[in-house]
Amino acid sequence: MNKNLENYSSIFHKIQLAENIVITSHKSPDGDSLGSSLALFNFIKNFNANVSVCHPDQAPYFFHWLGDKEEIKLYQNNKTEVEDLITRADLVFCLDYNSFDRLGSEFGKLVENSGADKILIDHHQNPTINGSVSISDTSIASTSELIFELIFQSGNLLALDAKIAEYLYLGIMTDTGSFRFPSVSFRTHEIISYLLITGMNHSAIHEHIYDSNTIDRLKLKSYAIVEKLEVLSEYPIGIITITKAELERFNYKKGDTEGLVNMILSIENIMVAAIFIEHEEGVKISFRAKGDFYVNELAHKYFEGGGHKYAAGGFSSELLDLTVDRFREIIKGGFYA
Ligand code: 5GP
Ligand code: MN
Repeated sequence: MNKNLENYSSIFHKIQLAENIVITSHKSPDGDSLGSSLALFNFIKNFNANVSVCHPDQAPYFFHWLGDKEEIKLYQNNKTEVEDLITRADLVFCLDYNSFDRLGSEFGKLVENSGADKILIDHHQNPTINGSVSISDTSIASTSELIFELIFQSGNLLALDAKIAEYLYLGIMTDTGSFRFPSVSFRTHEIISYLLITGMNHSAIHEHIYDSNTIDRLKLKSYAIVEKLEVLSEYPIGIITITKAELERFNYKKGDTEGLVNMILSIENIMVAAIFIEHEEGVKISFRAKGDFYVNELAHKYFEGGGHKYAAGGFSSELLDLTVDRFREIIKGGFYA
């Protein structure tokens, strides 16, 4: 039997036998971490009532329409409750991340040191979590597709209802840039057809995610493009830096700069895009690319981060200007060749 088929049925058996199951995913939630977590949560509930979802921190406001968002216990707000759930769990799912530091250091240590059986389901490179079962496949566009495969390959397609389908659709849509990235495959579209057959409303999900700008958010992004966009001379690289004061001017809320880095990449002949955003804790960096330049290597080597070839992120505890100067030096030093 195909190794992954075996893995999926062994995961399904573990779900049926477990006493207490916890689903975890990475900090700064995105459509795929939320979609895969809530889809798996609702799938498991058909077979085992003792399941919960624990995430490190809150999702941005444009995910607040999610039906089950109250089901997600946040370590940030309920440390004792989450500690208790993790301690009692005998089965923990690690979804859409592959190293414990992606949970934040405290929550990461809690999960890492728990005695529970761990199951990794992820699509990032260089996994450092060794689950008792690991589905780790970088050729797949989203973790949500892997959750669909778990449902499908374990012979439980009948358990796929419109609610689960909506969560999976959210994850696949957001992690594929609305079905456009190179990682989209024939199977991605085949999976979407299984989702649509449940009667789910796909256009509502597009509207929730892409037509949910606040005026402040749209103004912040417009300001960033008009006033702050710079193309590095001699390089097909566009960057934007945003200071804390600028965020405050536009009443910044978490998630407001989402998508801005992709706007830079939409410029003709721009191959790499970066945004540097000054927060209280330090500078958060987002990278995007197309073509032959892989930004996860840059993020990993120089900015305490990582991600995918074409979408990665990182962090710098230096001042904003120094961080950007360092980025320029790295590029000039031959990193972009
Ligand atoms: P974003 O730019 O949307 O914040 O992140 C893009 C992708 O980069 C994410 O899907 C995630 O895979 C990765 N990423 C972002 N921040 C970090 C980080 O601090 N560490 C690692 N390892 N990956 C990150
Ligand atoms: Mn993902």
